[in-house]
Amino acid sequence: MRLVYQHENRGLVYSVRNILAMNDIDCHVKNDHSNTMGAELGLGNIQLELWVLDDSEYTRAREIIDEHLQEPENAEDWTCSNCGEINAAQFGLCWNCQTEVNE
Ligand SMILES: [Zn+2]
Repeated sequence: MRLVYQHENRGLVYSVRNILAMNDIDCHVKNDHSNTMGAELGLGNIQLELWVLDDSEYTRAREIIDEHLQEPENAEDWTCSNCGEINAAQFGLCWNCQTEVNE
């Protein structure tokens, strides 16, 4: 396994995981303890880590991430209309339920 991405924004990490999954790259999220209330209380400063299971996929995974993480200016996070999760602006799909933004 190899660490390919880390961020304290849980939605962002799961969005990246979903994107990689769509590209047939298996990933594992570490440090996800946010089933507790921590995230809502602003205690969520733990960096979530995204690990690619297959080291040989690392380079491709990094390229895909770089491609998707060019932050649009003035973009705002959006709330999924289906499940209510907060999603990072640069993603068009809900990390939790894959509902499209604006649907
Ligand atoms: Zn959703």
